[in-house]
Amino acid sequence: MSSIRRGVWTNWAGNQTARPTAVHRPNSEDELSTIVAWAAQNRTTVKALGSGHSFTSTSATTGEMIRMDGLSRLIAVDRQRSTVTVEAGITIADLNVLLNGLGLALPNLGDIAYQTISGAIATSTHGTGRNLTGIAAQVVGLRVVAGDGSVLDLSPDHHPTLFHAARVGVGALGIVSQVTLRVVPSFRLKAVEGAQRLDDLIEQLDHHVDGNDHFEFFWIPHTKWALTKRNNRTDDPVSIPSRFKHWYAKTFMENYAFGAVCRLGRARPSLIPRLATALPSTGQSTIVDESHRIFASQRIVKFVEMEYAIPREACGEALQRVRRMIDDRGHLVSFPVEVRFTAPDDIPLSTASGRPSAYIAVHMYKGMPFEPYFRDVADIMADYDGRPHWGKMHFLDDQKLSRLYPQWDAFQQARQRIDPMRTFANAYTSKVLGD
Ligand SMILES: Cc1cc2nc3c(=O)[nH]c(=O)nc-3n(C[C@H](O)[C@H](O)[C@H](O)COP(=O)(O)OP(=O)(O)OC[C@H]3O[C@@H](n4cnc5c(N)ncnc54)[C@H](O)[C@@H]3O)c2cc1C
Repeated sequence: MSSIRRGVWTNWAGNQTARPTAVHRPNSEDELSTIVAWAAQNRTTVKALGSGHSFTSTSATTGEMIRMDGLSRLIAVDRQRSTVTVEAGITIADLNVLLNGLGLALPNLGDIAYQTISGAIATSTHGTGRNLTGIAAQVVGLRVVAGDGSVLDLSPDHHPTLFHAARVGVGALGIVSQVTLRVVPSFRLKAVEGAQRLDDLIEQLDHHVDGNDHFEFFWIPHTKWALTKRNNRTDDPVSIPSRFKHWYAKTFMENYAFGAVCRLGRARPSLIPRLATALPSTGQSTIVDESHRIFASQRIVKFVEMEYAIPREACGEALQRVRRMIDDRGHLVSFPVEVRFTAPDDIPLSTASGRPSAYIAVHMYKGMPFEPYFRDVADIMADYDGRPHWGKMHFLDDQKLSRLYPQWDAFQQARQRIDPMRTFANAYTSKVLGD
């Protein structure tokens, strides 16, 4: 979670801070709209804060900050339409538990569940799955407080053009008070994790991506190995062979032991290539569990991240270029490069808008210089019209971003209607969306 101490807000990663004029915690939509209306009348700005899990300054503000955690209730379940409506500040973790209790689930998730549902959709948060979209494309309705404090119901039937854009609003298309999501009956996943040579994996990439419901891999820089995750729907009962082994793999190895390796690498960077070979490259594990427990992991080790969506067919070539670049430029990287895949959607500022996408994510351990590495990766991604994740580090401005999104103007028109006075502006929206 992010924290606010002595008036200074810090995000989860600790790389963004802000000093808001005031922090509000509304408990109702009425209170929320009153704050926005007051801000509009007083010509100041308002920013909704999710869980602060973005690496960019997207939720930072010097104006009024609104904590959304007072708005986290279940509003309605419509079993006929397979939808649920929740208040926007609910975390995905709480939503998962709530849905599971109703025998329901979200069809796909990212790899953590600490985010709020509204923060996740605002930045086009996604998981992996050949036929599955990011979370925002599961949204079938939104209630939004507009820049003058009025409340709008948005759906394919009410204000369809505003709804179309507001699903990925980058915090600029109003403050979402309620979200209606398409859900599916709860399901179990069989998760098979193992290691494979990167070259073999890239050669058969389509086979892996198309042959699994959810396929992703983590290439370990300075090695030829990648760790693969294959998650597939199953009717098998929950089976976690040994709770201790599971804790050892997921909590101890992926967090505490990995954190120790990262700390050592930060203290003595020249050791990083040798430390990388110590990460596991053999062995396979299989577990079966409820989908949300398989999707979401614990993340204790702090880092910064940049992630690009590129056309899926470019994935293998782009990744091999990143691999060569790391060697050629002598970058020392202790964090794996994560690769995922999604289906296209039609949302103007979704990173997968209009194209089947591969996502390539690079990370750097907290406190280590990241910019030279991230900039070199960004240069490669630019050759594939790469679109950076709205919640992760990047170096692009509105001039460059506008060329990457064919429906950019549709988003800007929606912004002009919902927030003509720019009540929801901050330094990040000015940079990436323009004034
Ligand atoms: C450890 C870690 C793992 C991650 N894993 C993934 C992953 O697997 N896949 C992925 O795609 N991303 C991932 N992310 C990125 C993360 O999902 C996004 O940055 C997400 O936006 C964070 O949600 P949040 O609730 O923390 O929102 P914040 O970061 O607080 O806010 C994000 C944006 O949403 C806006 N916002 C928040 N609430 C509202 C509201 N009610 N109305 C309007 N706007 C609102 C904010 O103003 C801001 O612009 C990860 C991040 C971390 C730190």
